[in-house]
Amino acid sequence: MEFNKILDNLKIYEAGKPIELVVREFGVAEQDIVKLASNENPYGTSPKVAKVISDYAKNMFMYPDDSFFELKDALASKFSLESENFIIGAGSDQVIDFIIKAKLEAGKKVLMAKTTFAMYQIYTNQTGATILKTDSDTHNLEQFLEIYEAEKPDLIFLCLPNNPLGEMLDRADVYDFIKKIDKNTLVVVDGAYQEYASFKDEKKYINPKDLIERFENTIYLGTFSKAYALGGMRVGYGISNKNIIQNLHKLRPPFNITTLSLKAAIEALKDEEFVNDSIAKNFEQMARYEQYAKENSIEYIDSYTNFITYILPESIDASELSDKLLRRGIIIRCLKPYGINSIRITIGTKEQNDRVLNILDELLKGN
Ligand SMILES: *Cc1c(COP(=O)(O)O)cnc(C)c1O
Repeated sequence: MEFNKILDNLKIYEAGKPIELVVREFGVAEQDIVKLASNENPYGTSPKVAKVISDYAKNMFMYPDDSFFELKDALASKFSLESENFIIGAGSDQVIDFIIKAKLEAGKKVLMAKTTFAMYQIYTNQTGATILKTDSDTHNLEQFLEIYEAEKPDLIFLCLPNNPLGEMLDRADVYDFIKKIDKNTLVVVDGAYQEYASFKDEKKYINPKDLIERFENTIYLGTFSKAYALGGMRVGYGISNKNIIQNLHKLRPPFNITTLSLKAAIEALKDEEFVNDSIAKNFEQMARYEQYAKENSIEYIDSYTNFITYILPESIDASELSDKLLRRGIIIRCLKPYGINSIRITIGTKEQNDRVLNILDELLKGN
């Protein structure tokens, strides 16, 4: 059978390994498995949100309110904006897809950091547009500007903080950069980990209202999958001016998040205590990974997220180490596919981190 030629150049996405697979393939008992590969909130679903989900189960015969009125209203008051400034997606992944379809096609160009969130590239490849990347793995705005001036891309992705490396730029530098960008180029600020970044350092905080009011060619992305602990519910959002949001809405399929997801997200927004507590614990626990790295001469990237990236010395191969960890039931992310000898570990609970650091230590010392 013939398919769209574009499919010839596409690959099937490989998500982090599920727990069931490690049980099956390596015979590790389920309770001994620690999954720290997808930057989920390790403290689980907030009890208040879990209750709303189970209370609402009986209403599953109904489609959700397709205007997502209540959720947009809650987001609008959180960010001091209006409902018309929001688009809801099945994860912010889906909003990334809308943005790319709205701006790109064969012959158009998109600019991003060399090592950044894979979905930017994956969705762009579906359009046939050209991908431009900086040489630097982490975000380097001088390089962004240089390529911007030479190539005038139609779309720019800034992942702030960046996944999978964890680094974060200062707000003032981001604003200085966007000032120099022409109004027809859309600048995406992906704030999937902004809750973490702003907790750690106020200078890193990008307020979506401030961003979109200063710059008419920007869109901010937020998600419920990380600090809000709802990865399984698939809810994210885009924030921009009404014109950009309306254009993205032309690409949104009806009922693109579920009735349960909608209720869960609304409740999650109310439970700020859970979110703040998760973030505080995240950085307490991250300090242990930093300490371990220092004691063992492993380089790491100063992280503004809920994960840490270890840059391994040449003597330790990231794929081999990840594989050995997997066999012991520790699921983390190997960054070899990005061309760097590094591993990314989501910061877990105290007990999970005890286990990871112990096993990591055994493996490294056994080398
Ligand atoms: C996790 C993540 C997202 C969005 O995830 P969804 O679950 O689709 O909302 C977006 N950008 C980055 C950088 C992420 O790490």
